[in-house]
Amino acid sequence: MSHSHLSFAGDRLPYSLNASHLTSAFPSTYPFNVFAAGLTELLQETDDVDVFRSVITTLEDSSFRFLAVCKVAYGFEEVEALEREVGFYQRELRHLQGKYIPRLFGYFVGTTVRGTTAALVTSDEGRPLLKPFACLSLQFRKRVYRGLRRIHQAGVHHGDVLEANLVVRRRKDGSYWPMIVDFDRARKHECEVKGKKTQIYGPCPEPGEDVCFELYAIGGEEGLDIWRPNSRVRGFVDSRGGGDGRELRAGECGGAGNYIG
Ligand SMILES: [Zn+2]
Repeated sequence: MSHSHLSFAGDRLPYSLNASHLTSAFPSTYPFNVFAAGLTELLQETDDVDVFRSVITTLEDSSFRFLAVCKVAYGFEEVEALEREVGFYQRELRHLQGKYIPRLFGYFVGTTVRGTTAALVTSDEGRPLLKPFACLSLQFRKRVYRGLRRIHQAGVHHGDVLEANLVVRRRKDGSYWPMIVDFDRARKHECEVKGKKTQIYGPCPEPGEDVCFELYAIGGEEGLDIWRPNSRVRGFVDSRGGGDGRELRAGECGGAGNYIG
């Protein structure tokens, strides 16, 4: 395994990184040594971190093709954060891969013209979410909350739950499935919600007692808005029943439907 490496093609990233960890569970056992990442789209770019959509191939098997997202970090600090992130994928969140978080393909490190460089390669699970939480269906908001709750139950505090850190795929039944990404601000966490059931549209829980602060905040009105409204005047009740009171803000949402580009 230690001899495997990943080569980035193209002008932006003309280098190879060595596999520090290569997952062997998915999509095959990878009997290959040399992978190439063809960059198809730049998703995010900051001073020290670039995120690309890419296709991973290997010369050793022309049928091998893995649609991936490569998160490439430069410099000691950013690489250290990426290493923590890969640790969560490998350990605490391993069982949630493919369900609530992407699957880990591999982690590659090396030295490039930009110094210490590392790449976290995960499965491509869809497009970044385009709409604010307030514009999403109740079904979708529940899915986001459940995913985050599972992450907490696994002992991880995300630290940066924003629309931008959800990727979304449209399923065969037409509904949208969210996956939670970007664990570089995550930390280990003993969650108050462990073993307890917080109810969606149940009474607003007590932060620090019924739920931890991150889950409380994300379930609140500025986030997923899934606690039962109580003292606040909402000004609108869906008379058809079963609505979630969100229609008021529909104008901000650019119409129903597509969550993704
Ligand atoms: Zn928690």
